[in-house]
Amino acid sequence: MTEIIDGKAVASEIRDDLTDAIETLADAGARPGLATVLMGDDPASQTYVNMKQRDCEEVGIESIHVDVDGDAPPEELYDAIADLNEDPDVHGYIVQAPVPDHVDYRNVIRRVDPRKDVDGFHPENVGRLVAGDARFRPCTPHGVQKLLESAGVELEGADVTIVGRSDIVGKPLANLLIQKADDGNATVTVCHSRTEDLAEKTRRADIVVAAAGAPELIDGSMIGEGAVVIDVGVNRVDADTEKGYELVGDVEFESAKERASAITPVPGGVGPMTRAMLLYNTVKAASQQEDVDVDLP
Ligand code: NAD
Repeated sequence: MTEIIDGKAVASEIRDDLTDAIETLADAGARPGLATVLMGDDPASQTYVNMKQRDCEEVGIESIHVDVDGDAPPEELYDAIADLNEDPDVHGYIVQAPVPDHVDYRNVIRRVDPRKDVDGFHPENVGRLVAGDARFRPCTPHGVQKLLESAGVELEGADVTIVGRSDIVGKPLANLLIQKADDGNATVTVCHSRTEDLAEKTRRADIVVAAAGAPELIDGSMIGEGAVVIDVGVNRVDADTEKGYELVGDVEFESAKERASAITPVPGGVGPMTRAMLLYNTVKAASQQEDVDVDLP
């Protein structure tokens, strides 16, 4: 029987543990605060920001939201960032991507105080992660690691194929999984849009992580017998539903399930973990800035 890895359940356990840590911080007069910054009015981004705010409320993190007009010059966003860097009640914040075309996201990220960079995207934090001394692990890769741990997947010496080389998923995950650490020690192959014979690389893997943003790119024939499949992809495809679309992953779930020993569903797999790990990083940021020790899950 193939195990369906329940991301909602694992995320819920992590949130419970974080709630305890947040109480410890609050008792010490240090309630964690997370800010979200949204430039423009992209509906998907608005939904993500709303979810992050709701998550905060549920676990007792103070949440603040900053809107910046989508047509404003970049300096307006930079000013909002400078304010958040100075605000002692904000321990962490995220600038929701994508930003409008006239703004260079890299210039935005460089302005974020690395101690408050709970996405883990600032070059200083990227460097620390690569050096094996991460301050904040980016939320999605960290969530994937926690899912693998929860499913009891042996990483040491495992062959992992990651499909996707983005700065927010593929690259940081590859770096984390090769670290000399209990949640690393794997041998990692990173595939991307120029990779030749993708199926050969996924088929030989003990663990396949799909993060390509390509609906159902990976089917059962590309999965080795007994492999573990983690599907990061979230893609909207037209469907005969009330909303006119449905969400599918980068993996063709039904055929992949036939071959895999364990697999994450979409939705309900990696998504809830990404959200939980943002709360984790916020609690970690508050603990560091307020100098209060807490147990992190
Ligand atoms: P991205 O577009 O930045 O990167 C996609 C990567 O996949 C690129 O490196 C590209 O080279 C590679 N790729 C694309 N098509 C390919 C193909 N046919 N064969 C091999 N490689 C291919 O995407 P991203 O931001 O890393 O996101 C990837 C997917 O994960 C998206 O569907 C996104 O919505 C989803 N996502 C989900 C979560 C979550 O919490 N569940 C978080 C982040 C991203």
